[in-house]
Parts: sequence; C-alpha cells; structure tokens
Amino acid sequence: MALASWIDLIMCFILFLLLIYIVATVNITNLHKVYLGFHFSMLIWPYCQFAIRTVDDPVFQLFYVKLAFVDASLLSLGWIFFTILLAGQSQFLNRKVVAALTVPALLSSVLVVLNPYEWFVLPVNGGYAERIYGPVFWLSMAFIIVNALISLYVIYVALTSNQAQRIKNQIMYMLRGIIAVGAFIMLDVFFNVILDDYLPVIPGFTSLGIVVSATFFVITIHQDKVFDIVTIAHQDIINTMEYGVLVLDDQEQVVEINQALHPYITLDKGAAFNISSYLPDGPDEKIEPFLRSYRDDPLETAGTEIPYPVIQMYISIHAAPIMVSGIRVGRIVTFQNITEIHRLIDETNHQNTILQERNAALIKVQEELFQTNAKLRKLAITDSLTGCYNRHYLMQQLEQEVLRTGNSLTPSTIILIDIDFFKKINDQYGHMAGDVVICSTVELLQRSLRPSDILARYGGEEFIIYLPDTDEAGARLLAEQLKTNVEHNSINIDYIDEPVSITISMGLLSIDEFKVPPGMDATTYLNDLLKSADKALYAAKHQGRNQIVSAEV
Ligand code: GH3
Ligand code: MG
Ligand code: MG
Repeated sequence: MALASWIDLIMCFILFLLLIYIVATVNITNLHKVYLGFHFSMLIWPYCQFAIRTVDDPVFQLFYVKLAFVDASLLSLGWIFFTILLAGQSQFLNRKVVAALTVPALLSSVLVVLNPYEWFVLPVNGGYAERIYGPVFWLSMAFIIVNALISLYVIYVALTSNQAQRIKNQIMYMLRGIIAVGAFIMLDVFFNVILDDYLPVIPGFTSLGIVVSATFFVITIHQDKVFDIVTIAHQDIINTMEYGVLVLDDQEQVVEINQALHPYITLDKGAAFNISSYLPDGPDEKIEPFLRSYRDDPLETAGTEIPYPVIQMYISIHAAPIMVSGIRVGRIVTFQNITEIHRLIDETNHQNTILQERNAALIKVQEELFQTNAKLRKLAITDSLTGCYNRHYLMQQLEQEVLRTGNSLTPSTIILIDIDFFKKINDQYGHMAGDVVICSTVELLQRSLRPSDILARYGGEEFIIYLPDTDEAGARLLAEQLKTNVEHNSINIDYIDEPVSITISMGLLSIDEFKVPPGMDATTYLNDLLKSADKALYAAKHQGRNQIVSAEV
C-alpha cells in the first residue's frame, strides 16, 4: 500500500492523540476524563463495522477489523475504570490493579494487531468482509468477558457497601448497560460466528448493544448530574460564603459574582466592573493608594479597609491577580464585612482610654499619698517648735550607728547642751519669749554644723549634737565655737526693748568606737552613754555654767 493512502488516516490518528492530550491535561475530574475516553472508544466500534463493508481493499478491511477488536479490548478496560469511579470505589485504582488490568488488554491488542499465523482472523474469498476468527479472537473475547465480570464484581461491592441511594441508582444503570452490551455481543457471536456457516452476516448486534449501554450511561449522568457535582459544589461554596467574591477577566468584565455581593453590587456576568464606583466618594488616604495599586500594578495584590457610611459598614477589600502560566488572565476581588471586628476594636480602644484615665488618676493619688507620707515621716522626726530633729529620730540614728558594723575605727562625739538659767527667761519675759530664744539658739547652732551632723531637741531647753567622724579635740573646738556664738548672740524679741542673750553649758562625750558589751542591748548601751554625757553636763553646770566638760569614759 502506498503511504499516500494512509496519510489522512495518520492525520486522523494525530488528531485523536491531540484530543487525548487535551482531555488528559485540562482541569476536569478523572470521571470526566475516563468517560470521554470511554465514549470515544464506543464510537470506534460501530464506525469500524461500517468501514469494513465500505472498503474493498482487504488491507483496509483487515485494518478496520483489527482496530475494532483493539478498541473492544480498550473499551472493556475503560468500562471497568468508569464503573469504579462512578460507583465511588476509587480504592481499587492503585498501580497494581491498573497494571493487572491494562497489561492483558494491551497483550491481546498486540496479538490482534500482529495476527500471527492468522490466529486472529482468516480472510474468506480473499477479503475480510466475511471472515473466520481464530484462537486470538477467542482469547480477546475471554479477556472482555473477564473484564465484564470484574465490572460486575465492582458493582456488587458498591451495592453491598454503605453507599448513598444516588450512587446505587447510578450503579444499577451501569449494571443494565453491562447486561445489554453482554447480551448483544453474545447474539453477535452466536449468529455471526457460531452460525456463520448457515446464515448470512447480520450486522449491528454489538453496535446496538454499545448504543443501548451508552444510553443507560447518558441517563444516569443526566439524572444525577454526575459530571456537574464538583461544579455545583464549587458554586455552592462560593455562594454560601460570607465573603463577597468577584471574578473579573483581564478587561475588568465580570466572570463570576457570588450571592454575598448581590445586595450591594448588581452586575451580571459580562458587565464591565469599575471599582471606583463601588468605593465611597471623595479623596481618602486609604482609598487613593489602593486605587493606584489596583490600576497601576494589576500583577500585585492590593488591599484596604474602608468605612462605608451609607450602609454603616466597614469593608476589607482585597484584589489579587489570577495568573495562568505567568500571564494575568483576570483578577479576583473579595469584599469582607469587618464591621463587627472594627466595632470590637473601637470598643477595646474606648475601654483602654478609660483604663488609662483611671490609671492616671490612681498614679496621682499615689503621688499625693507618697507626698503625704513623706510629710508624715518628716513630721514624725521633727521637733515642732524648732524644726530640728526630735529625740526619737536621734535615738534611732544612734542605734543604727551602734549596730552598724565596720565603722569602729572612726571616733564620734555626742554633745549634750542645756540653756543656763532658762527659767529666768521664762519668768522675766514670758513663755513666748522663751520659745523665741530656744528657736534662735537652735538656728545659730545649726549654722555651724556639717550636713552629716545631727542636732536634735532632747527635751525642754536641752539639745544633743551628734558629730560623726569627730574626735574629742575636734568636738571641743566646735563646742568652744558654739559656746562663744551663743554667748554673743543678741536675740531680738518683738515686744521687749532690750535684746536677750543667754549662755549654754555642754557635756561632751567622745566615743572611739561604739561597742555594745556582750549581754547588753543597743538601747541600754546608748542610755548609758547619754548618762555619761549628762553627768558631764551636770558638772559643767556645777562649775558655774557657760562651760564645756568632757565626760570621763
Ligand atoms: P539650769 O541652768 O540649772 O539649767 O537652770 P534652768 O533655769 O535652765 O533650769 P531647768 O533646766 O531645770 O529649767 C528648764 C525650764 O525650761 C523649765 C521649763 O519651764 C522651761 N521650758 C521647758 N520647755 C520649754 C519650752 O518649750 N518653752 C519655754 N518657753 N520654756 C520651756
Ligand atoms: Mg534643763
Ligand atoms: Mg537649763
């Protein structure tokens, strides 16, 4: 045969391969793919039967006979896969099962194509319009019967399993299809193969069986919307979503719009969508950048959150490109109602502000308390008349000094002071004048002291000065100076003509180191020290007053 005669057939074959390629690679379910292949295979058989009779050339006749039987093998294989998918038994579709089913079908197809020793088919009268089938024919028949039995087994498993009624209905139609095609094939074999010698060939049995079974498939596919289930499910998901979803093509025309958007955007599929007409009017710091990005950078995602005062909503808008193989084919715009989230954020902010105000008020109260406390603390350690420290404070400080470790090497001094003949002042000028004298003397004494020295009112007109880090000699120098200062201090009192002057007597006690004797507490130890100072003071009084006497240690 010349190649030219085959050219159109080769083209037809290439077209067929292209169809298989496109069906295998498009985004549809496996069920769609298997059914398309299956239905295509169903077309081939009747076509071959027709073609065998229309050509005289035995080569072409043989080609169509072989093609018909290769097709029959593949058809029975496709039948099993289609049954498995339709019956929801895809657990059978593992590699081993697929290989175990495919290999015999391919083997019998190869034997049919090779027709070794004319074991598949023999010509009658030099042609194949009438033909005698050999053992390969019966082998491929056996495969087809086995495949039909496997399909029946899958159907049996599906019917006895816990399947939905809808699936069971589909399976029943499959069963009828198999019975129909099986019956017609048996009729074909009976009349045209077994009774071949006695009857003329009666065409169309198997083709009719295929048409009848295909009709059953079409009924079940139609009735139960088998192919549409995924699409319907997608549509349901999109339509029951709370988000508004808008799918646009690259010309900004509506491809898909879901139910959630219907109250707000009334656009049909194919209508032009203009985003700015769905944004609130007027320039806005959130809308402007979003619009710029939406228009100028369609390959980027753009998003914003904006209030819609008219519908009293806060909406989050998000636009993202739909890319196919690196090319933008459209975009998806989603609208999410975030009013409630915003209300919660506002509420939280409001509560935060209240909390902050309360906090500030609390901090103010705390500061006031702190200041009051400080005042109270000062009051507790201050003598109310003179403003110098009181006895309580002095004793506290001295106790700390006594208890403090590591200062034993530096000497310190205590000076006990008593105003001489103070009673006379009171008696002569009155108690008020006495107070003025006390205050003035304290002021004067304080002026000559260091910040680390402590001057405290010990009681009445008696005072103590504690001089840390001061030895006897240093203390005496200071005491002399204080005595002179007081002596020369003229105190002016409002209602007295003459300025008043006084003298003081001092008992001075220098301590090389504070050392509490074993078994004695700090207070008793201190009281003992003060007694010594008091003795010295008493001595100073005794020696004629305005004197400084050091205690004997
Ligand atoms: P001496 O030289 O022996 O100390 O004589 P004196 O008169 O100072 O004697 P004494 O110390 O015993 O007397 C203290 C007087 O100081 C008695 C009391 O009336 C008076 N006095 C005590 N506290 C105050 C005070 O706060 N204000 C006034 N104005 N007088 C006080
Ligand atoms: Mg006194
Ligand atoms: Mg006195």
